[in-house]
Amino acid sequence: MDSNTATADILILGGGFSGLSAGVTLARRGAKVVLLEKKTHLGGRAFSFHEPGYEGPIDNGQHLFLACYRETRKFLRAIGTEDRLEISDRLHLEFVDGSGNRDRLRPPAGLPGRLGLGFGIAALRGLSLRDKWGLARFFHRRSRAALDGGFAPNLDSMTIAEWLRKEGVSLRARERLLDPIALAALNEKSEIASATGLSQVLSRAFFAPDSDPRVGISRVGLSDLYADAAERAILEAGGIVRRSERISAVEEGPDGRIIGVRTVGGFSWRARSVLSCLAPWDLAKIDLPKSLQGAWRGLRPAPIVSVSLWLDRPLLREEQAFVGLLGTEIQWVFNKSAILGSRLNSKAGPAGSAGQYLSTVISGAHRELLCKPDALVEAACRDLARCFPAFRREWVRNAKVVKEPFATLSGVPGAEALRPVPGELAPGFFVAGDWTRTGLPATIESAVLSAAMACKRIG
Ligand SMILES: Cc1cc2nc3c(=O)[nH]c(=O)nc-3n(C[C@H](O)[C@H](O)[C@H](O)COP(=O)(O)OP(=O)(O)OC[C@H]3O[C@@H](n4cnc5c(N)ncnc54)[C@H](O)[C@@H]3O)c2cc1C
Repeated sequence: MDSNTATADILILGGGFSGLSAGVTLARRGAKVVLLEKKTHLGGRAFSFHEPGYEGPIDNGQHLFLACYRETRKFLRAIGTEDRLEISDRLHLEFVDGSGNRDRLRPPAGLPGRLGLGFGIAALRGLSLRDKWGLARFFHRRSRAALDGGFAPNLDSMTIAEWLRKEGVSLRARERLLDPIALAALNEKSEIASATGLSQVLSRAFFAPDSDPRVGISRVGLSDLYADAAERAILEAGGIVRRSERISAVEEGPDGRIIGVRTVGGFSWRARSVLSCLAPWDLAKIDLPKSLQGAWRGLRPAPIVSVSLWLDRPLLREEQAFVGLLGTEIQWVFNKSAILGSRLNSKAGPAGSAGQYLSTVISGAHRELLCKPDALVEAACRDLARCFPAFRREWVRNAKVVKEPFATLSGVPGAEALRPVPGELAPGFFVAGDWTRTGLPATIESAVLSAAMACKRIG
């Protein structure tokens, strides 16, 4: 073997949630694992950074977890960071619309599951009795379907909007409850996203036997939540993590078995198994043998745009971790000062009060991706002023826009069938990642679950 070639038992491509969780599992199992990541930092599409002049850490976009992200929590427990994730004691979604009207979905304490959800819906102020009745009937049917074993396959041929219309859910109930939940979870508007995704979300969060809709938020920057600790765990178990290593080709042996990869620098890695944890659009950029081509190449990304604002005084109350905005361009505002707590050293504003660090989110941001950062900051300020009449543009001390063009899979109708099952795609080549077919939308939990499924098959 020449000096331009090295060997491993298992090569893992990509250092996001899926690659890192697979790395920890396989290295602790005793395999000689080498993880290759093209960027200088780990974390993939979920990372945080500090920037001079900004009070941080700044996430590449606010991420929400659910209490039913069981594989993710197991992974965080395995690397010793689960306590950095704060899970609310019950579901509490607060909304405010462009006229400043407030509403909230908050099932009563001690009433979990479908009954709690029913009471929560009954208490929504912005919906008429008729809207609530339509929702209740829809939820009843979904919970029956979840108990009967999941979602109907034909859901992937229609959008959420088409499905909900067919199911008798009113437009107002959609706009004030289901659309915001769907957009946050699926990163596409209901007129674009497949009904399969919403069915998976509802089943997982509310109706499956192990459902738990409570929301979890990282109390630290995303990289501190898992990327650094996972890298440490891999190294301690004898694995190797190489950053700034961009894979350019996957190599096949004469018998058709995948034998390794080549990097842009011309280095070859040989291994018994290769586990790709790359997103499909990144995998498609690599020189791949014919055996790895497939329908998955038709999968497309959907963007998210985040606008962080540092105010010279508080807008949200301490106990308001996040609020959904209805009928506006920005969809959620997160109170990063409250979420990060003592990890920030908020300076006092001119009004004598502490400042506040907010992060606002636009999912399914196809149009906003093309907008200039200044225009996005103005849009965020305009929407905050509509929903919170006290807000003033002059309160903004600093702003930062982060655009993620390849944030998640675009779960349009037909996409579900293109997602390969996590596992062996061709002899010696395994695939994982949020976009593989885990029965979940392309989320963190799907990434970690896919890695666990692929690791079982690697043997
Ligand atoms: C702004 C934003 C908000 C989000 N919000 C949520 C949320 O609230 N809840 C939720 O559950 N999910 C959310 N997601 C989705 C979540 O971040 C992803 O599902 C998850 O991070 C995907 O992990 P992964 O390991 O599958 O893929 P990635 O994170 O994409 O990891 C793949 C890695 O491969 C590397 N790579 C690519 N090409 C090469 C190459 N040629 N050679 C070597 N390495 C390569 C990449 O740099 C990357 O590090 C959000 C995503 C974004 C961007």
